[in-house]
Order: sequence, then structure tokens, then C-alpha cells
Amino acid sequence: MHPDDRAATVTEASRLATGMETVHFENRYQCRDGSYRWLSWSATPAGHRRVIFATARDITERIAAAAELSKAKEAAEAASRAKGEFLANMSHEIRTPMNAILGMTELTLDTRLTREQREYLTSARDAAGSLLALIDDILDLSKIEAGKLSLERVPFDPRGAIGDAVRTLGPRAHQKGLELALAVGSAVPERLVGDPRRLRQLLLNLVGNAIKFTERGEVVVRADVESAGESECVLRVRVSDTGIGIPEELQGVIFEAFAQADSATTRHYGGTGLGLAICSQLVAMMGGRLWVESDPGKGSTFHFTARFETARPAGATAAAEAAKVGGVATAAASAASADFAPASGVPGVLRGRRLLVVDDSATQREALGEMARDATGGEPFAVALVDTHLPGMDGFALVEAIMNEPHIDGTALILMTSAGRPGERARGVELGVANTVAKPVTHAALRHALVRGLATRGLADPARRRGRAERASRPLRVLVAEDNAVNRTLVVQLLKKRGHRATVTGNGREALAALEREEFDVALMDVQMPELDGFEATAEIRARERTSGRHLPIVAMTAHAMKGDRERCVAAGMDGYVSKPIDRRKLYETVERLARSKAAAHAAEAVLDLDAMLRRAGGDRGLVREMAELFLAEAPRMLEAVRSALQNGDAPALAQAAHALKGSVSNFTTARAADAALKLERLARAGALGEARAAHEPVEEEVARVCQALRELVAEGAASEREAARGRRPTNVSPGT
Ligand code: ADP
Repeated sequence: MHPDDRAATVTEASRLATGMETVHFENRYQCRDGSYRWLSWSATPAGHRRVIFATARDITERIAAAAELSKAKEAAEAASRAKGEFLANMSHEIRTPMNAILGMTELTLDTRLTREQREYLTSARDAAGSLLALIDDILDLSKIEAGKLSLERVPFDPRGAIGDAVRTLGPRAHQKGLELALAVGSAVPERLVGDPRRLRQLLLNLVGNAIKFTERGEVVVRADVESAGESECVLRVRVSDTGIGIPEELQGVIFEAFAQADSATTRHYGGTGLGLAICSQLVAMMGGRLWVESDPGKGSTFHFTARFETARPAGATAAAEAAKVGGVATAAASAASADFAPASGVPGVLRGRRLLVVDDSATQREALGEMARDATGGEPFAVALVDTHLPGMDGFALVEAIMNEPHIDGTALILMTSAGRPGERARGVELGVANTVAKPVTHAALRHALVRGLATRGLADPARRRGRAERASRPLRVLVAEDNAVNRTLVVQLLKKRGHRATVTGNGREALAALEREEFDVALMDVQMPELDGFEATAEIRARERTSGRHLPIVAMTAHAMKGDRERCVAAGMDGYVSKPIDRRKLYETVERLARSKAAAHAAEAVLDLDAMLRRAGGDRGLVREMAELFLAEAPRMLEAVRSALQNGDAPALAQAAHALKGSVSNFTTARAADAALKLERLARAGALGEARAAHEPVEEEVARVCQALRELVAEGAASEREAARGRRPTNVSPGT
């Protein structure tokens, strides 16, 4: 027997002597050739003759297989970890320059621009946003594989989401000389509940493919309601192109990951073959399906259906809610629903007006007609929508001709321009058209163009300066630690725009040095830095704070988009988290919220005994808040009792009122307010009303201070609860809040 197994075997055998019926155990026996084999034993005592009956099975093979298996499992796990890390690193590498692209575009958009420039930059920003979304989706692919992808459920405007995605691809289509048209059926609800980002992603993929595989002609996107029930609505989207088509035998294959119609495709058109695989998974998750009809050489139509919940009827609050959740798409949509009657979706000024569409693309005509249908039917043409590219006589010549016809010069002229051709808009404005609208024309853009065109009938307003950063209510001193120069500039500019003051450092060590020289309201720290990284610097700051008792709010900046990053930041002692590319709204919101909570904690510390309050409430912050609210409600009555007792010269009543006040206020404060009330009580007991009058003022002052601090505490607590409910921040922001 293997020497290592002897003791265990003896123990097992002795258990039979103590009355056990059978025992099972495993041990190793040596073969004649010196090798060991694993045996699995079952043993049982045989009557009184001190004999044991035992059977053994050779399980050497099984043990070896199990060892193999666990080795393989470890290897697989290591590979999967490596893949996760690779994805995280890759996303970091791509996100860092993307941060600069998006951020710089945003900054430029904040400057004075012509409308044309604004349109181009907006397209660039949107496209960069889509690219970023794509990076996230590559990350998601691993989640899909692991069955860990979940869809969002937020209210959104499907027209806005679809229009937004299609518009992003406008420049690409126009560059190739393709028409890109969009028609969203009027039955499509104003609001649905689902995942607008994924819907956008589906469209970007399918429309992107359609443009990629089409050299001549057009790409048309149609969205309609397939079926609608009480609480849900199935959308059907078709993306048709006049491109190369897909041979029948390959129509099934292309939906698999890494599959392309033919290997030459990769060389000619590029691509990974991942797009459709992701799409079919997403569509399946949305309770729909994705399929293709194609005529090789003539074109393809990709269809998909997707199930959404129907939202509550649109109203003011609902629209505001939608605007909050959906980012770009919903923001545009809610602007539209604010401008126009939300009930029917048709602005009053458009109802009953006749619209002339001049376009050589039949599909485009049809699509525009469909979108404008509800708005037409009345007298002479109120608006003419003219494409710039027309065979024979181009759009500009047509516009000039119409303007020279006195009996139709009341018609508002709107030019449809291509994003790929700068100067078209300028030419239109020069001619004096009422408005221009960039192709592909989305529902919202068309409505807007029509309403504005009708309103102005002349030159459009100069570009409004939209999206200007509002200034913060309180300028903050912000310490920025970031090693990448471009990102540093970006963050500093963003903060400056908002009225904050930034001190920049290039790594954690410099940040620590700056902290010794200056006071800051909040620090923004890159996680990855040379010398001393964000985590190390935070640890050092927190260590120093243990003696000073202060707490500097620290916001991590990280390019990682992996789950668990937030937890890591919190574990490292950071209070907040913004991911790169930095969304300025998130940046402002996080930095200002944390600085506010610090200020509140600071003010509170001066008058309140937060530790004692928490202790009394058994560590329950909610209870502390409730106690504070109760006191705030009671305090005016108690102060009034003190005042009237003084006025009436009623010493016993005064003593009683001051005593009650002292008892209540000492629940919250360190000393001063309680001391003041106690002094008043003593004087009242002694009947020294004159002195008591003099001692009254400090009581009022101190109690007012306590009330103010408590109000801030309550407000801050409510704010953090809201934040926590929205799941946007780590819990526990700073001590005392
Ligand atoms: P990728 O476009 O990156 O190659 P996809 O999964 O999106 O990956 O598409 C897989 C393949 O399906 C493409 O390589 C192409 O051969 C074919 N395909 C997709 N869309 C179209 C289309 N609209 N017209 C023709 N072929 C298409």
C-alpha cells in the first residue's frame, strides 16, 4: 500500500470494529512493476471471526480522467480570463483616443459655428458615439456567449431612436451617391418601453451593411407595427437595398458568427462577419426574429421583428422622464414633442396643408409622402420639398423658377441637401429658401423643417447656440490627476466651461503634492497613471485623512468598461466614478454632487454630532433622517413656547419649555445649542427672567443653526437615495451623509 494511504486505511478499517456495517474508501496499491493503482474499496465485517469481506475496483483511469478534466477546466478558465482581460485592455486602448475625438467634438460644438458646420460636427459626434457603442458591443459579445447580456427597459421614442440611427449613416450613403430613405408608419407609437440602444445597434448594423454592399441605387428603411396588444407592440423593420444580393445557399449561413457570403467579401468590403450574428441574438432576446430575402444581383431586404412594451400615454412628466433616460435619441424626440402637439404627433400649423415633394427617387417620394400624409390634403401647396439632385433641371434651378412665378411665391421652399456635399445649404440660403433639411430626412427633422419653413418663409434663423454648458451654481476647486495630455486638456476645459477651477497634475505623486499646498473640493483621478496610480494615490490620501478627520471626495476616471470596475473604485476608497469617454453631463453631475455632499457634511460637522446621532439610531441612516425630520417639524412649536413664556413672564413655563427644547436638541448637537437651552432653563428655575431674556437670543441662533444643518442633512440624504435608486453611484458617499 502507498505509504501515504496507510494511516487513513487503518482508520477506515477500525471503524468496522466499532460497529459500522460497511465502509467505503480509496487508496493506492503498488503493482509488481512499481507503479501505483487507485482502488476503491467497499468493506464489511464478517460475523465474529474478525474477518473483513472487501471488494475493490480499480479506479486509476477514472482518477486520471478527473485530473485531466480539472486541468482542462483550469486551462479553459484561464483562457476565458485572458480573453476578458484582453477585451478590457482593448476597450481601454480604443476608448482613450475615442475620448479625445468625442470630447473635442463636443467642445467645438460649444463654439460659434455655422449651421452647416454644426450639422457636420453633430454627425461626427453621433458617429463617434455609434463607434463607441460598437466597442461596447464587442464587449457584449462575450456576455452574449456567456448568456449574461440583459436588455434595458426604459421608455423611449421609437421614431427618434430609428431616425437617429439612420441619420448617423447619412453621410456614408451620400458619399457613395446612394439615396437613404426612412419611412416610419404612423401607427408606430410615440413611446415604447424597451432598449433603444440595442434597437439603434440593430439598425446601424443592417443599414450599415446595406450601404456597404450597394454600389448604386438606394437603401430604404421602413418601420411599422406588426401587431399590437394591450400592453405590447411588435415592430417590424425592413431594410432594403439595391446591392449585390446574397446567393440563396448562403442566406442561412451569414447569420452565424464570423460567416461571410464568400471569403473574397472580406478582402473587398472588409468587415468581421460578426454583425449579423449579434443582430440575430439581440432580435431573439427582443422576442422577434431576423431574416433575409434576396435576389442576387438585384438587392436584399433584411427584416426583423421586435417586441416592446407599450408605455403609459405620453404626458408632460412622461416626456420628461423619456428625455432623461434616452440620451441623444430621446432628447431630440422630446424636443419635438414639446414643440408639437403630443396627442396626434401632428403640429397644428401643418394640418390640412398641401405638400409638394420633388424628388427623382420614387422611394424617397413615397417615404416623404407617407411621413407627411397626415399633414396634407388642403388647398394650394403650402410647402415644396425639393431635392437638390434632380435629373434635367436641378433643385436650385427649380427653386429659382418657382420664386419667379408670382402666383406660387407663397409656397415655402425647403431644400433637401446631402450631408456629403458642403455648400448646398449655403446656396439654398442664398437663394432665399425657407429652410433646408439634410438627408436622410427623419420624421422629427421633417416636422421641424416644415414648421420652421412655414414660419419663416425666408432665411432661416442663424444657428442657435445650443448645448452650451450652463455654469455651476458654485465654482469648485478641482484637483485633476491624469497622465494623458489630451484627456487632461479636455477635462480641464470642461470644468472651466462650467466655471470650476482646475489644478492639473500628471500622476498620483504630483496630486499628493498639490494636496499639501492647496485645498480642494473634489479630486478627479485617472485610474492608470505612471509613478503612483489612482488607487495608490487614493489609498495614501485616505491614510492621511485618518489623522486629519477630513474626507476629500475622489472621482475615478477609467477607460475600462468592465463590470466590477465601479466596485474596485469604491473598494479603493473612491467616492464616484466616471467612465471614459467622459460624458460632460455625468462629469458635472458627479463632481458637483460629491462636492455638495462634502460641503453639507462639513457644515453639519460644525453643529451636529453625527457620530452620536448614528449611534443612537443603531447605525440606521434612514432613522437618523426621520429623527431629523421630526425635530424640524417640532422645533418651531418648541421655540414658540419659549417665546410666549418669556413674553408672559411665566418662569415655570419657561423652565419647562427650555427643558423640552434642550432634551430634543441634545439628540443632534455636540454642545452649544443644548448648553444655551440649559442655561435658559436654569435661569428660569431661578426666576431670573431679566437674565433669561438676554440668554434667549443665543438659544434662537443655535437652534436655527442646528435646524439648517439638519435640513441640509435631510436634503442630501434624499438626494443620495434618489441616486442610489437610479443605481448610478456607489453607496456611502462620505461620512456623515
Ligand atoms: P460583416 O458585414 O462584418 O462581414 P455581417 O455579419 O454583418 O458581417 O454580415 C455577414 C455577411 O453577410 C457579409 O459579409 C455579407 O457577405 C453578407 N451580407 C450582409 N448584409 C448584406 C447585404 N445587405 N447585401 C449583401 N450581402 C450582405
